[in-house]
Amino acid sequence: MKDENCIFCRIAAGDIPSTTIYEDEFFIVIMDLSPATKGHALIIPKEHMADIFEMDEKTAGKLFKLAVRIAKAMKKALNCDGLNIVQNNGEIAGQTVRHFHLHLIPRYEGDGQNILWTPGEASDEERRMTAEAIREKM
Ligand code: AMP
Ligand code: ZN
Repeated sequence: MKDENCIFCRIAAGDIPSTTIYEDEFFIVIMDLSPATKGHALIIPKEHMADIFEMDEKTAGKLFKLAVRIAKAMKKALNCDGLNIVQNNGEIAGQTVRHFHLHLIPRYEGDGQNILWTPGEASDEERRMTAEAIREKM
């Protein structure tokens, strides 16, 4: 369902131009307008879903298969040294466009980017309780 106020719905519908790598019935893969590194791309489902919490598992399966294809093509085309997959959900997590998108960010020696988090701490008991709480909701 196209949302006129959503920039990625409008890109998926072809109403706003984008530099497209790939497109099929379900997804469009475009170059990020403000790339973190050369080749930074976004996989965007054509159907509007705000974030991962609105995505069904069937779509998720297709999405990750496509991510693997694009990542391997990036490796060959760009000769990157590594690649980060980033996917932000919610403002607190850094999501600025509220239409699901998966970032594929090729990495190069000396590219100056830092996409990692600061390691924290949790007791054995806390980890066990947290794991159990999540498992119960699956
Ligand atoms: P996020 O912060 O995870 O929501 O990422 C949003 C991403 O969308 C950013 O990397 C932006 O540079 C990118 N972006 C925003 N508008 C456009 C656009 N019109 N075409 C391509 N990328 C865009
Ligand atoms: Zn949308």
